[in-house]
Parts: sequence; C-alpha cells; structure tokens
Amino acid sequence: MNRTDTRRRRNRYTRGMTPVIALLMLSLSAGCTESNTNQPTTAQQSPPQETPSTSSPQSGKTKVVTTFLPMYIFTKAVAGSAADVEILVPPGTEVHEYQSTPNNVKAIATANVLVKNGLGLEEFLDNTIKNAQNPKLSVINASKGIQPLNEISPVEKTGKKEEEHDHEHAEGNPHVWLDPVLAKQQVANIRDGLIAADSANKASYEANAAAYIKQLDSLNSEFQQTLQKNPNCTFITFHDAFPYLAKRYNLKQVAVVEIPEDQLAPADIQNAVNAVKKYKVKALFSEPGVDNKLLSSLSNDLKLTLRSLNSLETGNTDPQHYFKAMRDNLQTLETACK
Ligand SMILES: [Zn+2]
Repeated sequence: MNRTDTRRRRNRYTRGMTPVIALLMLSLSAGCTESNTNQPTTAQQSPPQETPSTSSPQSGKTKVVTTFLPMYIFTKAVAGSAADVEILVPPGTEVHEYQSTPNNVKAIATANVLVKNGLGLEEFLDNTIKNAQNPKLSVINASKGIQPLNEISPVEKTGKKEEEHDHEHAEGNPHVWLDPVLAKQQVANIRDGLIAADSANKASYEANAAAYIKQLDSLNSEFQQTLQKNPNCTFITFHDAFPYLAKRYNLKQVAVVEIPEDQLAPADIQNAVNAVKKYKVKALFSEPGVDNKLLSSLSNDLKLTLRSLNSLETGNTDPQHYFKAMRDNLQTLETACK
C-alpha cells in the first residue's frame, strides 16, 4: 500500500475538521492500520461464525452487500434469514484505506442492495460501484439524516512539518456507529431501505429492527447511567473514532495524537508528551490489537494507563458482537474515568 496515500486519506478525517493546534507531526497510522495488521488474539478478532461472502445466488432471496463490519452487523440484524447478506471489506482489513478487489465488483454486480456507512468513509466505493455496472442496485446510506460532526478535537502532530493534504471535502467524521443512539438511526435507515427493495419481507425487517433497536436503547441507558457518575472525563485517542460517543455521554475527547509509522526521534516523543500534558487528560485510549512502543512510552511518560477502546471497524460478525464490544468499551471508560 502506498504509504503517503494512506496517510493522506487518514488525515482527511482527522485533520480537515480541526482547528489544528499542532506542534508535532507524528503520523503513525496506529489508529486504524495497526489494529488490523497485527492479527492479535483478542476476542474481537475471532473468525466469523459464518462466511458472509458465500451466500448462494440460487436461494431466491434478496442479495444485500454491505461495506464493512458495523454495516454488516446492523444489516444482518435487520435481515435475519430473510435476505442474504455479504460483506465487502473482510473483518481484519482496514476500511479507511481499503482497495476493492475483483470479487467486490462481482458481488456488487449481482446484488440487489448495497448498504454503506457513508460520510466519506468508504472511499473505495464509488469506483467499485461504477465498475460493477448494476443499474438495478439500490444503495442504502445508513447515515442518511445524521448530522455529522466536523469540529472536533485538535490533532496533535509530532515531528517535521508534513505537506498539507487538507481537502475541502466536508463530510465530517464518519464514526457514527459508535454512538448507540445514532446506531439506532442507522438500523432504521437500513430497515427502511430493505423494505423499499424487498417489500415481501417487510414484517420480518420491521420485527428484527425493532428487537435490535430495543437492545440499543438498553445499551444507551447503561452508558448514560454509568458515565453520568464521572462527567467530563477527558481523554486522548490515536484514532479519531469516538467524538460521537463522547458527545453523547459528556466525555471530552480533547485531542487526537497522530503517531508516525517511521522511527521517532526522542525529541519528537518529548514534544508529543509536552503537547499532551497541557490537556490534563484522565485517559489514553488505544485500540485492541495495537501494540506500539511509542504509545507505551507516551503512557509511561504521562503516567497514564494505556487502555483499549474498540472502534468496531473489525472483529466478530455476529450482530450481538456490537453489544459485547460496546459493553467492554463502557467498562473501560468507567475504569479510566474514575
Ligand atoms: Zn476509523
């Protein structure tokens, strides 16, 4: 993968939206990329119980392709056994820099429905859809009607000045699925899109969506009740994935530190530490599977425990996995924010 390109793309959603305070340019792609390349042994990384890409076109069911894990999970929850659901970006593969495959084009060419997160996340999609030449395809934008967040946290950068790649693209931060309330809206959008494409199964889609939304309501209550005990907990991440969650539950994501994949000079690390110190943060969050020495040294120097928050961009494909991962996140937040 082209490294510069990768960096540019990542920066589009971490950087373009911020009133950059940036002293340090530290741009390791820890946030997204590493959690996937390290192939760790956490529960989230366990193999799917089913192979989502092998549904039979002979089943006569509506064929739905979804882009990446949260879209697969929500769509599978709504579809149940009424439609065949596939995933384009295999769990364990990075979505932000994903390059589509010929099989992805084939999958879309033979699909009835495609479900995407939208908000600029699936950059590979436009060309892939074009190449698939499927005029009957209906596309569900799961983020339809959701007001994206644009102004979020400052991005702390370390190291030398990098060329700016700020595009004026203003689709906002795409990580809406990590807020259970916005996840309900995504599920409802998927439900409505499936009903429009396959009205014969309307009753199933409605019942399945209602059950899943009820679970999301419970999850939301748990987050509210638990996190209201420690309001305004400040934290720093290495992947700008949690602004919606933070906004919903009165947490404060005060900065996103970008860390380079290149070797850092000790002075760069010191700069990063100093930049982060001014925020007086309570918590430092990495992601499952990310094991980076720089993050560890940052956490040592700041005397903060480095904990993992799951962005659900990869992991188990069972629809119930969303709740497990989010409850793990809640427990991590509760511990870190005490
Ligand atoms: Zn992300």
